[in-house]
Amino acid sequence: MPEQVPLDFLGDLRRTHSCGQLRAADEGKRALLMGWVHRRRDLGGVIFIHLRDRDGVSQIVFHSDEKFAAVHDKADILRSEYVVAVEGVVKLRTPETINAAIPTGEVEVVADKIWILNESRTPPFPMEDNVDVSEDARLKYRYMDLRRPRMQKNIMLRAKLSLAIREVLDSLGFLEIETPFLTKSTPEGARDFLVPSRMYPGEFYALPQSPQIFKQLLMVSGFERYFQIVRCFRDEDLRADRQYEFTQIDLEMSFPQQETIFSVIEPLLERVCAEAGFEVKAPFPRMTHAQAMRSYGIDKPDMRIPPFYCVEDLFPEDPNFATPGLPLVAIVIPNSGAPTRKERDELKAFGQERGLRVFDDAKRLERDAPEPMAKVRERTGAGENDLLFLCGWVGEPNGRRPEETLLQAAGQLRLFAAQKFNDRHQLLDPKVFKFLWVLDFPMFEWNEEDERWVAAHHPFTSVHDEDIDKLTTDPARCRAKSYDIVLNGTELGSGSIRIHRRDVQSAVFNSLGLSPEEAQTKFGFLLEALEFGAPPHGGIALGLDRLVMILAGEKSLRDVIPFPKTAKGTDLMCDAPSAVPDKNLRELHVQVRTKK
Ligand code: ASP
Repeated sequence: MPEQVPLDFLGDLRRTHSCGQLRAADEGKRALLMGWVHRRRDLGGVIFIHLRDRDGVSQIVFHSDEKFAAVHDKADILRSEYVVAVEGVVKLRTPETINAAIPTGEVEVVADKIWILNESRTPPFPMEDNVDVSEDARLKYRYMDLRRPRMQKNIMLRAKLSLAIREVLDSLGFLEIETPFLTKSTPEGARDFLVPSRMYPGEFYALPQSPQIFKQLLMVSGFERYFQIVRCFRDEDLRADRQYEFTQIDLEMSFPQQETIFSVIEPLLERVCAEAGFEVKAPFPRMTHAQAMRSYGIDKPDMRIPPFYCVEDLFPEDPNFATPGLPLVAIVIPNSGAPTRKERDELKAFGQERGLRVFDDAKRLERDAPEPMAKVRERTGAGENDLLFLCGWVGEPNGRRPEETLLQAAGQLRLFAAQKFNDRHQLLDPKVFKFLWVLDFPMFEWNEEDERWVAAHHPFTSVHDEDIDKLTTDPARCRAKSYDIVLNGTELGSGSIRIHRRDVQSAVFNSLGLSPEEAQTKFGFLLEALEFGAPPHGGIALGLDRLVMILAGEKSLRDVIPFPKTAKGTDLMCDAPSAVPDKNLRELHVQVRTKK
């Protein structure tokens, strides 16, 4: 870096155009642009720079003939990422120098004035998309990473989608209402982030895992339609692609049927996809949880891949072939052709690890059992060029619910096979968006560790009217009025019709093993609110980060969140979490037991 770069003041300079704006029609105009030096080339006497702002890139030319000598000399100082203002005349480029790759590529600005507004250290990595940079470096210098065109595009898409969401919800009569961050625990099944209170020694606020209770209280208050694009905090063990804090499109309505919620979310998602340049058409297909498990072995089926089929009824019962009473599953992956020996072995090994026996050789099965296999082809519609294989369980069934375990394993195998052969069938096209509603989730899940029932969604979810009597007698068979919206195998959001009666809410707490005293301490305020004319209500929350990620074609949430944490939950840029001085801890009445 040259020493003592002479810096200029912004003074009252104003841009006339953005760096992405100039076109051939602007020829002859004077333009004053401001931005960052993206690239610089010296060709003998002439210096070219690409000047970049968030709108695009323009080529600026600095000639060295006498008339321009002073500007040229100053331009000679420029390095990558210097911040400059330049003024000059817009000229058409000669046909052979037109750059079709950029919208401003037909013109350039011949600079006769330049102001250097700031210099820059050598950037830690180039401000280009296709460079090999470690994620740690990107996150440490996140403000630089965010300058890269792809990240600019993602963050701008996010802003555009948030605006569209507000527009749609506003047009449907929803009010954006804020709810507190310093609050009391809301149960979404994760650990809370706690904030010690300075004023009340030994007491803590919790950061909300969701605004669930507050949005219900807003219905009790009579606002009828609420929404918020809101940060939620969950101290979960960070699996795969999760963040401690994430953003939800959270909404709640009074007097809704399930259909009323869908009739809000479907046009919302149509519009959001359209903003991102994709067309999707409502109504989205619907499926019960039981159907999803039976046909896909998962509660969030990727509808780009066909379902599997249970075919045990087509084969004579033979314990060496499949355990009687349990499903035998036929999986079809279209247009995948015949797998190689090695590929078949991989399918087998994947199945075996999950306790499945995989019959990977369709030809052989067809030789040994021609009639049943003809019926399998008929049921599944599997053609000659499709991969067809069966899987089942051989031996003693194990686990509490062997059928469910088997179907889940088959579901994983179906996904594994689809991903494995994607280059042949191209079914998993990231530009194809298949939404699905999954309905009627079970009300409770059995928690093996604690040996008790826990709420499958959350404890404020209504049970199906027909299943109310089973709340205490047969919790396993209680269906909830809850629904998930699934996109390409990802759960995008969940919601439910809520309990609006105190007696029912108390009964559900009771089924969940919460004593009346515990229920009172934790949720007394909600129970009380339900006594003051709470209307029937329900809602949903969609993950904004995930939605933007899928629509941006990204694979990591970190690529669509401006300042994310690392996969290990740290912030490399500000170095968080970090120790705090003893004085602060004392003020908060906090003593640390173990230090690093
Ligand atoms: N609060 C729920 C969640 O965060 C969503 C809802 O039921 O509206 O998953």
